[in-house]
Amino acid sequence: MRILKLFFLIFFLLSFKNDAQSLKNEFVVVVDAGHGGKDPGNRGNGYFEKNIALKIALNVGEILSKNKVKVVYTRKKDVFVDLFRRAQIANDANADLFISIHCDAHNSNAYGAGTFVLGLHANERNFKIAQKENSVIYMEENYEQKYDGFDPNNPESVISLVLMQEEYLEQSILAANYIQEFFVKDLNRRDRKVKQAGFLVLRNTYMPSVLIEAGFLTNKTEGKYLNSAKGQKEISSSISKAILKYLRSLDNNRVELKIDTKPTPEKIKYLFKVQISASSKSLELKPYNFKGLSSISKTKNNNGLYKYYYGYTNSYNQAKILLKTAINAGFKSSFVTVFKDGKPYSLKKYLAEFE
Ligand SMILES: [Zn+2]
Repeated sequence: MRILKLFFLIFFLLSFKNDAQSLKNEFVVVVDAGHGGKDPGNRGNGYFEKNIALKIALNVGEILSKNKVKVVYTRKKDVFVDLFRRAQIANDANADLFISIHCDAHNSNAYGAGTFVLGLHANERNFKIAQKENSVIYMEENYEQKYDGFDPNNPESVISLVLMQEEYLEQSILAANYIQEFFVKDLNRRDRKVKQAGFLVLRNTYMPSVLIEAGFLTNKTEGKYLNSAKGQKEISSSISKAILKYLRSLDNNRVELKIDTKPTPEKIKYLFKVQISASSKSLELKPYNFKGLSSISKTKNNNGLYKYYYGYTNSYNQAKILLKTAINAGFKSSFVTVFKDGKPYSLKKYLAEFE
């Protein structure tokens, strides 16, 4: 009898281990709990979206960590975090996937779970969902500058968002499909499908990114489920399974999906960096010396002047996104620089040749 028990125990452990080992590469997933602090999110049936999103996010993170995925959170507590900062955290982590977790609200009895990728909304309802999630920027300081005059209430304004994520659209849709698949298969949730809409939090990430509306707090039954430990556990488990399935699909033939945010500099003919400052002082390349930015490098010229750079990439478009991040971090006079075969080169010349 005891041997049989032992046998089962071993079998049980092996079946878990097998799951964990199936990822050969190290992957980084950024788990973003929507809202927080002064922004409660929606208050359907008196619940707090921010609290439910956080619980689900922490559960998802815990499960992924146990499966050898590196997890980075945009918040682990009840604090307010700018939408822009959330994307920046994901970019600095050089993540493979960004998932933002929310709950929906509606003045009908609507229910069910849906997953969004960045894109043009196909209908008014999708626009309204994005509008609601985007309107948090009114609580942020300097939001006009930070988001280039983006207006959550103007459908036209959303169009400018879309281009930035285009590169990752296919992968984002794949991840979103898996999430919906597990919601339906595992939990028998009403399938609100994968949809596109203009979510600001997804705009500035340069990796596949999805936003989950886990269900409706305004629906009596579903609200109660979402607010329960059981509901949160089940939802987290389904999301995690979907993410692991997505990562496994990348794992076998891991092409560089990250478009060389960390290329090997020697091998690259043209390398872009964002120059954030110049100084006669030699600073240690730590985030606290650079307003929280990581991925800093420096050069020293003959006059003893140090130039400090943020990030590196072989794509000019990526460099422009890095530039935005640097400016938003407070390096207002940053600009993009290019190196050819490791030596400083004229950006003007580069653009004349290639753009
Ligand atoms: Zn939300």
